Amino acid sequence: MSWFRSESNANGAGASSPVIAPTADNRQGSCPDPPNGNAIVVDHIVKKYGDFTAVDDVSFSVQQGEIFGLLGPNGAGKSTLIRMMTTLLPITAGRALINGFDVSKLADNARRCMGVIPQALTSDIDLTVEENLTIYAKLYGVPAEQRNRNIDELLETVDLTKWRNAQTKTLSGGMRRRLEIARGLVHSPKIFFLDEPTTGLDPVSRVAVWEMLTKIKNSRDLTILITTHYMDEADRLCDRIAIVDHGKLVALDSPAALKASVPGTNVIEAQFTNAPADWQQQLQTLDDVTSVQPEAAHMYRILTGNGSKTTTELVELAVRSNVQVKSLSVQNTTLDDVFVHFTGRQLRDEQVKAYSFVMPDRPGMRP
Ligand code: ADP
Repeated sequence: MSWFRSESNANGAGASSPVIAPTADNRQGSCPDPPNGNAIVVDHIVKKYGDFTAVDDVSFSVQQGEIFGLLGPNGAGKSTLIRMMTTLLPITAGRALINGFDVSKLADNARRCMGVIPQALTSDIDLTVEENLTIYAKLYGVPAEQRNRNIDELLETVDLTKWRNAQTKTLSGGMRRRLEIARGLVHSPKIFFLDEPTTGLDPVSRVAVWEMLTKIKNSRDLTILITTHYMDEADRLCDRIAIVDHGKLVALDSPAALKASVPGTNVIEAQFTNAPADWQQQLQTLDDVTSVQPEAAHMYRILTGNGSKTTTELVELAVRSNVQVKSLSVQNTTLDDVFVHFTGRQLRDEQVKAYSFVMPDRPGMRP
């Protein structure tokens, strides 16, 4: 078997287990409603690895029923944060409360309230879909009758009913991710943690996972905390987003409020040929322009408070200067612009550096 339990907070070892079940003698009991509706409270939390500070004095709270996103580039500290909240990693300073339970002191109570989907796929490929779910349900002490009901319902929800007896190794990456989502819900948790749930999935599977999460959240009255480095994912799924960079919280609000906080409401992306050396400075002088970021291959990203007026002026300037406009698009500001605004760097550049998760091969099956 490829799974085991974490005892990280009990012994301080910080084991990297994917299974976060309560201890055998402490499985029973339910998860109460959170005090003041605060499902998750992170209070001045710090994580140090030796001298290196991976998470630096971060505080936020998540309301019951919210989808809350931790957005940031690779290495920002998102996984470290989630691993501390889910009892997998000892906390250096500060505290995390799950439904009011301090994860360092009442880890079993906190574990009963949470379902956790780690970044790596951890279902056992030699077991069937149903066996993977049954093992987890047993680990959490779900009574047999309820177990069977939950599994039937969850297989339906994640659209895997007809694959129930299939060996997990024959599933595609997207199907396996859906199995892991079902597995994280077998004990009916109130808070669901997902660490980069769509990394490595193709665009169609990513959208399927988003739709599934929204459906599950609404039907089960879940609170969801998700980490991602995909801006579109955070924008589409989350009620509120915390942007994390170098272990610090740099912004926290709804996607709409974050975008509104950036000066300029439109982004013009334009590519030119024959542009002179001072072209960036010339673009900067156009009316309503708040910033001009040069990108690769004579492409510029121009933030403006008035997309149509700036576009007209830009084309006039290009004609006067004998510069050709090779391509031009006008969009609303994105979370990428929010990231640049708060950090001075582009999240898209950071994403290129990010590692990508490679889905394991499926013996005997085409992907
Ligand atoms: P993210 O999930 O945002 O990609 P992580 O939380 O995985 O970021 O990592 C945050 C930082 O902590 C990175 O610089 C990473 O190299 C470092 N880090 C993570 N785990 C360890 C560890 N066990 N020992 C030392 N440094 C670590």
